[in-house]
Amino acid sequence: MSAFEVTATDGAARAGILRTSHGDVETPAFMPVGTKGTVKSLDPQELRTVGAEIILGNSYHLHFRPGDDVIAELGGLHAFSGWDGPILTDSGGFQVFSLRDTLIQVDDEGVTFRSVYDGAPERFSPEVAAQIQRNLGSDIAMCFDICPPAGVPTAELAEAVRLTTLWARRQREAERAPGQLLFGIAQGAADPEFRRRSIEEVSALDFDGHALGGLAVGESREEMFEATGWAAPLLPAQKPRYFMGIGDAEGILRVIGAGIDMFDCVLPTRTARTGSALTATGRLNLRNARFARDPRPLEEGCRCPACTRFSRAYVRHLVNQEELLGHRLLSLHNLHFLLELTAGARAAIGRGELADFTAAALARLAGGPQEDPWHS
Ligand SMILES: [Zn+2]
Repeated sequence: MSAFEVTATDGAARAGILRTSHGDVETPAFMPVGTKGTVKSLDPQELRTVGAEIILGNSYHLHFRPGDDVIAELGGLHAFSGWDGPILTDSGGFQVFSLRDTLIQVDDEGVTFRSVYDGAPERFSPEVAAQIQRNLGSDIAMCFDICPPAGVPTAELAEAVRLTTLWARRQREAERAPGQLLFGIAQGAADPEFRRRSIEEVSALDFDGHALGGLAVGESREEMFEATGWAAPLLPAQKPRYFMGIGDAEGILRVIGAGIDMFDCVLPTRTARTGSALTATGRLNLRNARFARDPRPLEEGCRCPACTRFSRAYVRHLVNQEELLGHRLLSLHNLHFLLELTAGARAAIGRGELADFTAAALARLAGGPQEDPWHS
């Protein structure tokens, strides 16, 4: 049985089901990020409550702390973290190559860099990335790739594409955890020639799914959306398509419209940490004095554990006093908001109404008419 099934389409957009060893995921799917084996401040049960079906773990960080061997000894990342649903792990490539001042040497075999934890030299390769993810026991492992920041010279982009393919080919042969799916990653920034080449080479390796990496890394938003618009449909239609690193409301709707099935971002929890709420009409900075006596919930009509019980005035008080509960309530609300938005888009695809749903949501975000496209 195929791991992925498209159940509805609407223009380029798709709704589907991804089957993993730890359960099914309805797509499009927003994946909360649990970098260090926890979605910051939240219990796995709470993640379920706000609608998460799949979460991310981070190979780089878990390899160094507490060690993927430790996690393997304790039964893998599901048992270790208490989340028994699907987990996708990134390969560590993004961290290795985005912490550029820690890079020591890149060659065909792999990359040597200094760990951000203690500065000790370390070596990652496709085989190491496979071994770490095998130890973690994730449901979906990612290929070890080179993700350059936007605007690098052509030669550097070409080399990133070449090594990403070379490494994908090797990781495909490496041993995996039982039932573990493996996704390939296409690089090539927003450059039509390199991006097409990378997609062609990686797709030819017949992975269980494919990701667009190397976007949302510093290029303009329009450039990113334009590239996604032509690149996503080039990825094999019968496999899930994953856009790495997008999680704002507009971004989610636009990549879904382009035919993307999965996406992740630290934005909801990071925004919570700065004291802000994501809402259908934009961000609320709870530090703002205008909320001091505001009895309304963060968002009217929201059914999340924060909005059903607490006022803006109370959350503002918690945030200003740096109380932990403030961060937790904002994280719960922000995740709920994005997961509901994604579920609404999925339902709209089923009705063939994604364009209308997206237009209404974007108008609302831009301060347009106060309709309620996803709490009705
Ligand atoms: Zn809420």
